[in-house]
Amino acid sequence: MLAFFLVAFATVLVLGYFQVQLAWWSVAAAALAAYLSSAADLGWFTGMILWTAVIALAVVLNFVPLRRKWITDRVLAIYRRILPDMSQTEKDAIDAGTVWWDADLFSGRPDWDKLLATPEPKLSAEEQAFVDGPCEELCAMLNDWEITHERFDLPPKVWQFIKEQGFLGMIIPKRYGGLGFSALAHSAVVMKLSTRSNAAAVSVMVPNSLGPAELLLAFGTDEQKDHTLPRLARGQEIPCFALTSPEAGSDAASIPDSGVVCKGEWQGKPVLGMRVTWDKRYITLGPVATLLGLAFRLYDPEHLLGDEEDLGITCALVPTDTPGVNIGRRHLPLNAAFQNGPNSGKDVFMPLEWIIGGKDYAGKGWMMLMHCLAAGRSISLPTSSAGGAKALARYTGAYARVRSQFRTPIGKLEGVEEALGRIAANCYMMDATRVMTAGAVDAGEKPAVISAIAKYHMTERARKVVDDAMDIHGGKGICLGPNNWLGRGYQVTPVAITVEGANILTRSLIIFGQGAIRCHPYVLREMHAAKDMQGEEAANEFDDAFTSHVGHVIGNGTRAFVHGLSGSRLAPVPAGAAPETARYYQRLGHLSSAFAFLADMSMVAMGGALKRKEKISARLGDVLSMMYLVSATLKRYEDQGRQQADLPLVHWSVRDALWHAQQAIDAIYANFPVKPLRWLLRWVVFPIGTPFRPPKDRHNAGCAALVLEPGEARDRLTAGMYVPKDQRDATGVLEAAFGATVACEPIEKKLREAVKAGTLAPRPGVDTAGLARDKGIISAEDYAAWQRKEALRKDVIKVDDFPQDYGRAESLEKLAREDQPPAKAAA
Ligand SMILES: Cc1cc2nc3c(=O)[nH]c(=O)nc-3n(C[C@H](O)[C@H](O)[C@H](O)COP(=O)(O)OP(=O)(O)OC[C@H]3O[C@@H](n4cnc5c(N)ncnc54)[C@H](O)[C@@H]3O)c2cc1C
Repeated sequence: MLAFFLVAFATVLVLGYFQVQLAWWSVAAAALAAYLSSAADLGWFTGMILWTAVIALAVVLNFVPLRRKWITDRVLAIYRRILPDMSQTEKDAIDAGTVWWDADLFSGRPDWDKLLATPEPKLSAEEQAFVDGPCEELCAMLNDWEITHERFDLPPKVWQFIKEQGFLGMIIPKRYGGLGFSALAHSAVVMKLSTRSNAAAVSVMVPNSLGPAELLLAFGTDEQKDHTLPRLARGQEIPCFALTSPEAGSDAASIPDSGVVCKGEWQGKPVLGMRVTWDKRYITLGPVATLLGLAFRLYDPEHLLGDEEDLGITCALVPTDTPGVNIGRRHLPLNAAFQNGPNSGKDVFMPLEWIIGGKDYAGKGWMMLMHCLAAGRSISLPTSSAGGAKALARYTGAYARVRSQFRTPIGKLEGVEEALGRIAANCYMMDATRVMTAGAVDAGEKPAVISAIAKYHMTERARKVVDDAMDIHGGKGICLGPNNWLGRGYQVTPVAITVEGANILTRSLIIFGQGAIRCHPYVLREMHAAKDMQGEEAANEFDDAFTSHVGHVIGNGTRAFVHGLSGSRLAPVPAGAAPETARYYQRLGHLSSAFAFLADMSMVAMGGALKRKEKISARLGDVLSMMYLVSATLKRYEDQGRQQADLPLVHWSVRDALWHAQQAIDAIYANFPVKPLRWLLRWVVFPIGTPFRPPKDRHNAGCAALVLEPGEARDRLTAGMYVPKDQRDATGVLEAAFGATVACEPIEKKLREAVKAGTLAPRPGVDTAGLARDKGIISAEDYAAWQRKEALRKDVIKVDDFPQDYGRAESLEKLAREDQPPAKAAA
């Protein structure tokens, strides 16, 4: 019997692992029954019962009409009873966008070869020329202190340059006068600007994200496109998009802003139009916009358009010079200087033609917004976060080398090294995610779940990076002024956390909530069969989806168990993977099966209530997200030609992500609401204990060393950021001081050795290097280099101070002079 049970167990593991068809399970069951009958003395009665059970089960499971009658039709009836009804807005949100690599991760068997075969996203020559030309030029024009402290806005000449060079029309095709850039190029521009000025990056990012241009491209009438897109592309219109209201923030579909279809007069002629009342807040570019994208709920009480009264959310484009439109007032979002503020209107009459897509699209606004959300969300905030991380990795590494305490560059003190290493590794993973996600958009995806993952995790990592950078800079990061290159970034970090779906909501509700339905290979099919189909069609579709679903659960459970037992050594490694990262693919293989199994068990155990179990849903989302981030990191390592110098970054970031995923899984079963399942889940997923270990200190040290040293690896990590060459610029000086500090280290060594040997005796108030030169310990050139380095170092460590009014009076005078028209200025 022991042999039988061992053979039976092994058979289940093999069949489950390879997720074979039902027929093979039946054959295996028959073979096991035959083995048992011949090996054990069962007696004719027990033997008959055994064979009857095996044959009956095989017939019911393999013969579809019987399977339906006895099993799946009954499950379908239960499913229909318990499946909560979905509102149209929920349906629109679920149906929006596409799924991509997230579906592979959800399947429990990601196809690594497919991912590695995806071409590396690259800029075209024209796009690269724009990044190196106008974008570089724009960065050089930007003075963040002037923008955030003196003007609270971009200077007029910068606005002019942005408009003239087409920065506001990057996503608009060339035939409408736009730049027609790829998502990657759009991302490269926003990233570069983010390394220089948040206000400039946001002002460019918003018109290229979810808003008038994108909505027009997807849904506009030809007339609307021909008229408005060229004006947007040339910067003749400044757009904004107003959805958020005081009463409707995260729950944006509940906006109280409303319009009523009515007859009225427009440009002297009687027309059918809408009288719209709204009160919006937080609208970026709203205070200076000329074209207001407006979302409101449209009603048709007089049935002028049709039978329905409540038509639903509608999007219109409203010129802000329309009588009754109030714009201009500003919020002050944590001292960020991009234009942001409320706007409102009361009973403003507008023709129906202002609805994006025309009157046929009245009431379709939510669907339109959901449809367009993913592309922008994939780029804007992930990109600006990656840009921020690049700037911080470069500047913090440089500062940690230039700044010494206890006669040691602070970056070489282990505590600082730990934080610095985290910054560098996070930066690598973030940029990898940025590029892979932009590549997906360029490949035609509108990746709904991935865009939420990228938005959440990149902004959260940016928050960690800036916290670490602040800690490393100490007081230098805290005292604001033109010489502080990170304080403003630290201040505005929560803005990215809050916008485009606030982060708590995105993690708790969206990533797994939408993923479970969209990325799962069978759930959406089952739901459609249950809710949208009837009769035979529904029963057959449900039968097929449900049976496959059961096989999927058994397969993933078995694979997770086998990988858990074998330390994931049986999991596949793609042919194109480097040997040094091969184990990570196997680890991900284990994680993917474990996650898919846990996801299904959670859905079975909690059903519709999982939506309210946000903590469980959030942790499942964390596991999915970590797998996505690790995939992007491994792909980057391959795409960049397996740079050995980058290995510490890969090791640290991948191990850290796997470790976090494991912690999330631990927390899932520790809090699983169905107690008996807790033990089962733990036993199946990690049968011999938790396999992933946190990153090692040596990986962390390797990451820190990479940004403490000038060279290719540091340049590769921070590629695409703006590096000022002008030494009047605080970060320009930092870059120069960094180079000089490293170059002078041999001189420093000579000085230290001379002091130790007693040939040089430092005296308070006396220039030690000068003494060393006089004694011939260092050469005259050494001394000159040392003097230069010291001057630069002093410049770098200096902190701003101000008169009592923080220099407001003086700067207002300066700005008044600068902004005067040329004739007046000459006079
Ligand atoms: C600087 C800035 C610029 C903006 N630009 C624009 C713009 O151009 N156009 C526009 O229309 N809007 C814009 N917004 C609005 C932005 O999208 C909203 O702030 C955001 O949707 C959150 O709404 P709220 O601030 O009212 O927070 P609330 O909705 O009040 O949320 C508060 C907290 O509750 C959490 N929460 C809410 N519901 C749930 C849930 N079900 N589960 C878990 N947690 C939940 C949120 O995550 C958040 O942490 C901007 C906001 C800011 C601050």
